[in-house]
Amino acid sequence: MEEKKKKLAILGSTGSIGTQALEVVAAHSELFEVYVLTANNQVDQLIKQARAFLPDSVVIANPDKYTILKEALSDLPIKIYAGEDAISQVVGSSEIDMVLTAMVGFSGLKPTIHAIKAGKAIALANKETLVVAGDLISRLAMKHRSPIIPVDSEHSAIFQCLSGEGDSAIEKILLTASGGPFRGKSRDELKNVTFREALKHPNWSMGAKVTIDSASLMNKGLESIEAKWLFNVSMDQIEVVVHPQSVIHSMVQFEDGCVKAQLGQPDMRLPIQYAFSYPERINSTFPRLSFNKQMSLTFEEPDRKTFRNLDLAYAAIRTGGNMPCVLNAANEIAVEAFLKERIGFLEMSDLIEKTMQRVGFVNKPTYEEYVMSDREARHIALELL
Ligand code: MG
Repeated sequence: MEEKKKKLAILGSTGSIGTQALEVVAAHSELFEVYVLTANNQVDQLIKQARAFLPDSVVIANPDKYTILKEALSDLPIKIYAGEDAISQVVGSSEIDMVLTAMVGFSGLKPTIHAIKAGKAIALANKETLVVAGDLISRLAMKHRSPIIPVDSEHSAIFQCLSGEGDSAIEKILLTASGGPFRGKSRDELKNVTFREALKHPNWSMGAKVTIDSASLMNKGLESIEAKWLFNVSMDQIEVVVHPQSVIHSMVQFEDGCVKAQLGQPDMRLPIQYAFSYPERINSTFPRLSFNKQMSLTFEEPDRKTFRNLDLAYAAIRTGGNMPCVLNAANEIAVEAFLKERIGFLEMSDLIEKTMQRVGFVNKPTYEEYVMSDREARHIALELL
């Protein structure tokens, strides 16, 4: 008997995670099919993907690109939509089994909320969703029984370590960090680094935003917050460990002192495929780790004095309320300004810190208040630039 294929909505299909997700689908077309593809702006690539995967619907967030998309696909029975609201609407379709949220930044929040409210399984690649509104998202996911399967490699590792553990108490989560291209550098050496140097990640191939976040350690700050919400632990139970080889993707220490780790090649297709096939594992032809060659795994503490973003992120989540949302918004502005060479590498932390001091605190924000905090923080950060 043929099993029913899992129907996927891939939000952010032209980005780094989105294109790798489509590689996974193509390799397992007997298990998965694409029902929705959405992209922000890259219409040419979206057209190619739509022709190759023949989804039911495609959405381009930028409405100016609607006509190009519509005309290019006019010979195919594919529904074409434009605008951010259309993304939120299509994810609710009763046909969809799982929604991969692979768009960048705050824009992931609204469609993720819609997908959860429709009871969809979420393959979560947009970490900003949980950073900005972790309490709201966790409550909604519980209420609508929408499972959230992490795609971020560290969180996928933790999720895999917890598989089969039932209610075993977590003592702590050991969140590994590669340290990025600037590991070991002093503040003096970092003053004048360029975005081109920051984009040279030693192990992982990822989009620009997350690669800069990795270089500044903000990525690990955001991931710590993401882990807190996904695994229901306190920030005191999350320890960041620098592990430059990126072979161990994260670890869990249980209350008996045992530590479980998940190892693998630094290849995002692994956690993407695991999220799609969960709770099963399916075969892959990805390169294997080799233990025959000499392999050394090393660990060190993060340099919190040089890379201040880690402590800023911990401060934001300890304050709670809208502060992680403010942190995230200010960081998005800071990364953009750094990529445009408007501010230096170390100034990103200063901008985030000052923005956090100036935005009004909201204790238990509603969705609308998150949107307002995000706007206010961006406005203030841009003014401070
Ligand atoms: Mg990660």
